[in-house]
Amino acid sequence: MMAVKTDTLKLPKLRFAPSPTGFLHVGGARTAIFNWLVARKYGGSFLLRIEDTDQERSTRAAEEQIRSALRLLNIDWDGEPYYQSAHRERHLQTAHELLKQGRAYRCFCSKEALAEKRRLAERNKINQRYDGTCRDLNPAVIEQNLKDKKPFSIRFKVESGQVSWNDRIHGQTKVDNNTLDDFIIVRQDGTPTYPLAVVTDDHDMGITLVLRGDDHIANTNKQILLFEALQWRVPQFGHIPLILGPDKVRLSKRHGAASVGEFLEQGILPEALFNYLCLLGWSPGDDREIMSREELISAFDLNRINHSAAVFDVKKLFWLNSRYFAGLPFDRIWKHVLKWLKQAQRTITEPETERFRLLVSLQQARCSTLSELTNGLTVFFETPEMYEEKGVRKFFLKGQSEKLLVLLKQEIEKKEARFFTDIEAIEAFIRQFAAEREVAAAKVIHPLRLALTGSSASPGIFELCYILGKEKVNKRIEKALQYIPLARAAVTEQ
Ligand code: GLU
Repeated sequence: MMAVKTDTLKLPKLRFAPSPTGFLHVGGARTAIFNWLVARKYGGSFLLRIEDTDQERSTRAAEEQIRSALRLLNIDWDGEPYYQSAHRERHLQTAHELLKQGRAYRCFCSKEALAEKRRLAERNKINQRYDGTCRDLNPAVIEQNLKDKKPFSIRFKVESGQVSWNDRIHGQTKVDNNTLDDFIIVRQDGTPTYPLAVVTDDHDMGITLVLRGDDHIANTNKQILLFEALQWRVPQFGHIPLILGPDKVRLSKRHGAASVGEFLEQGILPEALFNYLCLLGWSPGDDREIMSREELISAFDLNRINHSAAVFDVKKLFWLNSRYFAGLPFDRIWKHVLKWLKQAQRTITEPETERFRLLVSLQQARCSTLSELTNGLTVFFETPEMYEEKGVRKFFLKGQSEKLLVLLKQEIEKKEARFFTDIEAIEAFIRQFAAEREVAAAKVIHPLRLALTGSSASPGIFELCYILGKEKVNKRIEKALQYIPLARAAVTEQ
């Protein structure tokens, strides 16, 4: 049997249909994005359907998380979300329609009898499909069973033949009906099964293109059979290949991070994640990589989606993110920093603000994620508790470092606090200090940086002295000077 073909790209209606049972996986986010791009490109609509029929696993919290991840990625859906669980009666009505038309039947086989048949089939290594016991029951038997209130499920009658559809990604696809048995559409407890609910909803929502993960290919033949039996227009289908980790196994938390929330927590910007996910299994056909949403909408083309699974490249995501990060307006960074300050319960006083803002912009230039940036701001608040080991050997214990730090501290003490408001004067002072002692400026700068930050990498040292001010600089040198003899003793003991 051929699926009815329609040109869905004229005002297409698409949907994203997450089950609210966990966080939004980046694979799910990419499915949502691809649907959204098609809808926006062709002036169609993009609907959100919450597939919450599994009462035990679905939670409001998961739903809220999915919605908020979509909002952060700036994927807007049209209208109100469609809750699958609210349409149960309608799903059952569809099943009764199929019963009435003889396309479905009541199956009175008990769970025990079915389990026993399965066991036997397994033992004899034969196919475990339903054997059709109730397919052609005598109407009188059915009537009696109903009178006796015998529990029943409803099964769809699969006729011989095949289902074929022109998959928007994989092309012509055919599945023989003999791979199916008469599958259940309503369980014994009266609940509709997944294929019945999905088909009814897709029809009622007017969906013209079902674009979803490859893992749903196995459901498509059942769904097309239902559409056809109900004489409903069959939507087009497209199945997007999965996302794998570097070990070629489906990307999961085991690989470090797999959900939108986890990547955002790592400091990835939503717009960078959006851009990266668009390029995962799709490309514009030229060498563009950093693309605005408008460019992505106009370049997006279902025909260019890869047929094979995509490997998630974390390095590329971080690279892309660094490009977005460098271009972020300061105001946006500042807003994030203010939020971080509040969360970290840190305060900056009014007179400190300008110097702190300079630190923020210097860190923006050095970092590629928001979390890296905020980590780099703690230097403003904390006297180092520890010093980088390699740095200690190289910059604290070698040569005249200790002596130079003692002298530098004495010189700084002589300066007025006001002196620390002029970056150029600080630079001239440190360079002159080194020249007078006939050492290269680096011999002063490296130990000083380690003393101020605990690390051998930081924004420019002169700016840093300005940012920290006289008091903090002196206190930190003093602390380093207390530490150096201890470090020396520890090294000698080794
Ligand atoms: N609820 C299904 C899922 O989360 C999607 C079903 C569909 O797209 O048809 O995988």
